[in-house]
Amino acid sequence: MGSILLRFVAAAAVLLAAGAAVGSRLGSTFAGNGTSVPAHPYVVAPASTTPSAPRSTPESPPPATRPASRATAVPTTGTGAFTAAAAAGEVRGTAGRLHRYRVTVEDGTGQDPVEVAAIIDAVLGDPRGWTAGGRIRLQLVPGDAPADFTVLLATARTSEAICATGGLRTEGYSSCRLPGRVVLNLSRWLTAVPNYGATLDEYRQYLVNHEVGHQLGQGHEACPGRGQPAPVMQQQTYGLDGCVANAWPYIGGRRYSGRAVK
Ligand SMILES: [Zn+2]
Repeated sequence: MGSILLRFVAAAAVLLAAGAAVGSRLGSTFAGNGTSVPAHPYVVAPASTTPSAPRSTPESPPPATRPASRATAVPTTGTGAFTAAAAAGEVRGTAGRLHRYRVTVEDGTGQDPVEVAAIIDAVLGDPRGWTAGGRIRLQLVPGDAPADFTVLLATARTSEAICATGGLRTEGYSSCRLPGRVVLNLSRWLTAVPNYGATLDEYRQYLVNHEVGHQLGQGHEACPGRGQPAPVMQQQTYGLDGCVANAWPYIGGRRYSGRAVK
């Protein structure tokens, strides 16, 4: 990260020539009580010259045929500044390493960071989630508390720019994970994907579990067979490949996975 992460003291958002570089400011505000969180502004190098980060988790390029955009008005750009949820959750899970995370939401999205954090906390605390194996615990912490990773809910353009800092192409469509950062695309959060075959809530559960799964060291997996549940680490955003939608890493109390794919 060091070569592409330039720290600024006061810059809020820097837009360089031809849109090749985008600066954004993260974690600068803290909802609710006015406490300021230390800013971590950075400038993104052009994607074409960004060195790939081996610890990043790429998603495949979007399919050639893009789904028609829905009528729902979803902002595709925001301010680039993020507000952390002033919310803390219980420790989820009973045993294993504790991973603390914060939730931040880009300003200008119209989304309440505390409400988003509550949804994510519920997903990660679900008995079908990553904690079910007894080897991982997860806890939502406020933005000013030490955390192992941050979940960012960002507009299409901002998420694309952040993901590009790790050499990842999302084309503003998919989400991504960078070391210490789980970047959720607002458009997917609000509209899921066409023909997912499950509700928006279920797509969100998939999205959170999939990207946090990367943060927990999980790679991509394939559909095991037509009509079978899709492994949570299958790239379900790009299609189910004959499987049926599934948001959970544990089914019936057992870890459910598929063959590893690149
Ligand atoms: Zn993935």
